[in-house]
Amino acid sequence: MNRRKFLTILGTAGVASAMSTARVAEAGGGVHMFPYWENSYGVLHDTTRCIGCRRCEEGCNKVNNLPKPKKPFADLTVCNTRRRTSAYEWTVVNKYSVDGKPVFRKLQCFHCNDPACAAACFAKCFSKNADGSVTYDGTQCVGCRYCMIACPFYMPGFQYDEAFDPLVQKCTFCAPRLKEGKLPGCVEACPMDALTFGRRSDLIKLARARIKDHPDKYLDYIYGEWDAGGTAWMVLGPKASTPPPAGSHGDGEMKALGLDTQIGNRPVAELTYGALGAVPMIVAFWPVLFGGAYAMTKRKEAIHKAEQEAVEKQAKDDVTTALDAAVRKIEETQGQPAADAARKAMTEALKSREALDSCHASSDHGEGK
Ligand code: SF4
Ligand code: SF4
Ligand code: SF4
Repeated sequence: MNRRKFLTILGTAGVASAMSTARVAEAGGGVHMFPYWENSYGVLHDTTRCIGCRRCEEGCNKVNNLPKPKKPFADLTVCNTRRRTSAYEWTVVNKYSVDGKPVFRKLQCFHCNDPACAAACFAKCFSKNADGSVTYDGTQCVGCRYCMIACPFYMPGFQYDEAFDPLVQKCTFCAPRLKEGKLPGCVEACPMDALTFGRRSDLIKLARARIKDHPDKYLDYIYGEWDAGGTAWMVLGPKASTPPPAGSHGDGEMKALGLDTQIGNRPVAELTYGALGAVPMIVAFWPVLFGGAYAMTKRKEAIHKAEQEAVEKQAKDDVTTALDAAVRKIEETQGQPAADAARKAMTEALKSREALDSCHASSDHGEGK
């Protein structure tokens, strides 16, 4: 990271943060910090139609000029591994099991209505656009990877192998193609009509009609209609012939597809931003927390348990030290009440993150960990 670029960004971020804070206040409590675009687009993935052919992966790779994968797209055995998206694989198809039968689900950025990645990025690299896409512009990116920590679906990837100016990468919803009136590459490539592109509101109606017409086939749950505050990309799942155990919320099938049904209906952005954005001056101390944030990212990448524990402990120590240093500085320059408010806001933000992490740790979807 270039120091001059970094300091310039800090200046910009201070202004942007103050402006966004005003928008949250106007909204009367900050439930939604991004405007809702009524006519925005989305994609419905009907997992009952998906055959795990990986044509969508291939289509994405082609239209986005991504590097060729190690194993060819014709090799369908890779679906047996719970893969995550990466900087070079913006979508992957994994195999799950419902009722003992294989079900395939495509993973990519959900293009959240209130994207946590955008809320967490103080350099304002992410935009929620009127077409429904959440896009990233790396020109201001400082590589802090806070967006990666904030995303509840663990979707953005980082170009770790790029020595010079590595960037965050994720599915763009093929925003450039949408502008040209074309379908997203993955949707165009799907031979099974498992991916339907359209207005989000129409897709919800379509999903409801499928559930109504085939109550024995579909689970009565459109994942993404409300989850995480609503997402542009949504999922329909199969209904198990064996009813879910008594006392469950009828979401066992979605859980079996690796989807987090405990994520809640409030935008995750609200947790990230409500706590951190409420005190704009914290932005000035953000870099102090980078070390901790980076270590927390590393924690997820660590493979061995002992290594995980050591990295996690180090991350917690780093964050505590950084938080104490930031609060001391605020106390010196702004006084005790400001320091108390800052400590409270930062502690709440860290707790929100920990709550999300433990939620993911206790769920059984391997690719999220
Ligand atoms: S899924 Fe993650 S990366 Fe995509 S918009 Fe939502 S928070 Fe951002
Ligand atoms: S919308 Fe475009 S970028 Fe996103 S997964 Fe599909 S092909 Fe890839
Ligand atoms: S191309 Fe369609 S059917 Fe094939 S794996 Fe992707 S979503 Fe499923």
